[in-house]
Parts: sequence; structure tokens; C-alpha cells
Amino acid sequence: MTDKIFKLIEQEEQRQTEMIGLIPSENNVSPEVSAVLATCLSNKYAEGYPGRRYYEGNQIVDQVEQLAIDRVKELFKVPYVNVQPYSGSPANFAIYFALMKPGETLMGLKLSMGGHLTHGHPDVTASGRFYTSVQYGVTADARIDFAEVEKLALKHKPKVIVAGNTAYPFELDFKKFRAIADMVGAWLVADISHVTGLVIGGEHMSPVPYADVIMTTTHKTFRGPRGAMILATDRGLKRDPELGKKIDAAIIPGLQGGPHNATSAGIAVAAAEAAKPKFKKYAQQIRKNADAMAAEFKKLGLTLVGGGTETHLMVIDLTPFGVSLGTQVAFAMDVAGIYANRNTVPTEKGSPFYPSGIRVGTPLVTTRGMKEKEMRQIAGWIARVVEHVKTEQLPSDPKQRAAFLKDFRVRAQKDPVLLKIRKEVTAVTKNFPLFKW
Ligand SMILES: *Cc1c(COP(=O)(O)O)cnc(C)c1O
Repeated sequence: MTDKIFKLIEQEEQRQTEMIGLIPSENNVSPEVSAVLATCLSNKYAEGYPGRRYYEGNQIVDQVEQLAIDRVKELFKVPYVNVQPYSGSPANFAIYFALMKPGETLMGLKLSMGGHLTHGHPDVTASGRFYTSVQYGVTADARIDFAEVEKLALKHKPKVIVAGNTAYPFELDFKKFRAIADMVGAWLVADISHVTGLVIGGEHMSPVPYADVIMTTTHKTFRGPRGAMILATDRGLKRDPELGKKIDAAIIPGLQGGPHNATSAGIAVAAAEAAKPKFKKYAQQIRKNADAMAAEFKKLGLTLVGGGTETHLMVIDLTPFGVSLGTQVAFAMDVAGIYANRNTVPTEKGSPFYPSGIRVGTPLVTTRGMKEKEMRQIAGWIARVVEHVKTEQLPSDPKQRAAFLKDFRVRAQKDPVLLKIRKEVTAVTKNFPLFKW
């Protein structure tokens, strides 16, 4: 183990251990999930599906993949599951590939309002180029604008409507999406990547009764390996009995080659963990922690998009302190030992690259065993960082921005106020090891 890469992995483990991770799409897998990922399963090619492979030698891999499929079917009570997508983005594309011809219409939430790139973001994404993309938004109070969803659906008659998001702090009402999809005969695809764990734990409305197809990444609140899975519901299969076959074919030969068998095994392990009563407690604590953090932010005078959270995440709106403070605050937080990401706010006055918000979530810190008390502490640290750097306004002249940020980063890295917070953070994280859960 002399390869430099092992040294780097050690350093990364130390970074994750010492710091507080608030990126809502990140989590910390169990030692068991971690262990199966580093096994001989990844040596094997298994193009195809259990019982119908193109290569020999898949007697065991067939059972691994089937176990993953069966456990996920049981967990969600759905008739069809595919665990082969390499990740969330290709999984969404596979669904579109299965359900639409190029040029047909796809409807999704705008990226700047909390949607995902793969939901039809125009020009730069495959979903926006190969399909006709129509994008809906949120209202002034940061809720999905269902009046707009309905109006756009009636006008553009989309083939697929995607209900899903990455930076939306509220519960997604799949029932309302269903009613609109039915008005125009659209497929309803629920992309629950962020909230799967909450759905399983009963802390978020389930899309199973309403959606035709469900996609989820497996590495977010599901707390499994990096990957994704596609589920089809009874409703979806009733509409098209060939739906499962179409999705299978969209994955291979449509878009992918051999599945990542170690990932399939990791999904099987994570699904077993998610079926335990302990996981329900985990989902409940994610919510309690998010509520505690949101309440503390408000007490400390910080503004939250939409005024709060009903999920695992919230977006701090820094606009009251100035436009485009997100980059500076996120960087300063990182110096202070707390990493999150800058994010647009629905009423963004800056730009997607220099936005005015910070997105924070509780899945990872909850996995580490942190509770309400620590959430209040974290909110307090973040408020101190904001207070400290709020005068670091981004120049409005684009030419001056790069120089300003370069100078700001140099100063922030040795800023005594930020480094003092970092010491406090490190003292607390010592009590919450990564792999002890
Ligand atoms: C994370 C995410 C994806 C993409 O997943 P990757 O594994 O990063 O490709 C797609 N949709 C939503 C809603 C997500 O949150």
C-alpha cells in the first residue's frame, strides 16, 4: 500500500471526519456497504440481466443482482426494479430513451429554481437537446407553481412530466402532478433522488401510488453506493405492460454495457439496512434536525427560501446582505470546517455561477449521530461566518471579479475568526466518527 493514492484517501477520510458536511446530496455509507464495493464482484462482466447474460460465469452475479432487485421491490412495494444505471443522470436519460422519441416534449422544474440538469435544462444538456424542453418554476413563496405546470402541460402536451428536484425545501405533491399528467396523457416520472430515505421512512409523501416510473440515486438519503435505480409502479405497468422491458432495453443495449456488480451488491445491502426499524428513526431524525437547524437560522436573523423546510434541506437566502454572496460564504464556511454549496435562490438577482444562496442539508450529519443540539451549534457557526464575510461584496464589474475572489480566498484561508470556528468544529466532530454508525 505504498501508492500515493492511499495517502490521499487517508487525507480525504480525515477531511470528512474533521469537517461537517452539509451538502444534502451526500451521505456516509455503512462499513458493510463500503466493504462490498471493494470486492471481486467488480472483476466480472455481466451484460444483460439475471438469467440472460451475454457472458458465461455469472452464476453468482445473477444471484447478487436478483437479491438487490427483490429487496428494492419489497421495500417500495413495486413490481419492477432495475438496479443497473451507472448513476442518476444516465438513469434519467434511460427513462426518456424508453418513453420518448427524439424531439418529443419533456417537462421539468427549472434548474435555477431547484430542478436538475437532466430534467430538460436547455442547450447544454442532452435532455435539453434531444427533447423539446418545457420548464416550470416556483411561486414567489418558493412552492411549485402548479398553475403554471397545468398551463404549460395543456399548451405543450408533454410526453413526460418529471416531478423531482435537488434544491427544493418542501414536500413534493405527486398527487397534484398526477392529476395534471392525466389531463394530457403524460407519463409521470418521479425523480426522488434526494428524498428516497425520507419516503422509505414515511417522512415524505410516496410517489408509488401516483407515478408511472420512479428514479432514485442510491447514494443520497438512501445511504447506499454511488448508483441509481429505476422503478416502475403497478400504475405504469398497467398503462404499458411492456414498460419494464422498455426500461431494461433502454439501459442495455440502449445506453450502457456491463452493470457494476459491486454496486448492485451495495444496493442490496443498503436496501436491507433501509428495511430495518432503525432506518425509520434515521429518517425521522433527519427531519427533526432540519427543523431544529431552520428554527435556529431564523432566530439568528438568517432568511430561508420559502421560510423553512419540510424535508432534509433548506436554502439560506443571503440577498438581504447583498447580491451574489454565495461564493464567498461557501468558501469561508469551508475554511471554518463546514462544507456546503452555493446555490441560486428562486428570486436570484446574481447569476447561476455567482448565486446568492447556500444550500444545506442534514442527511450526513444525522448519519454521524448528530442531533438537535449540534444542529443549533452548526447554525450558530454559519451565522458567525455570514456576519464575518457579509461585507465581502462581489464587484459588479465582471473583470474585477476573478481578482477579487482570488484575493478573498487568500485572506479567508488565514482569517483568525474563521480558523477559530474551525477549531470549535473539529472539537465537536471528534465525538461523531464516520464509520461508527
Ligand atoms: C443527484 C440527482 C441526479 C443525478 O445523479 P448523479 O448520480 O449525480 O448523476 C438526478 N436527479 C436528481 C433529482 C438528483 O438529485
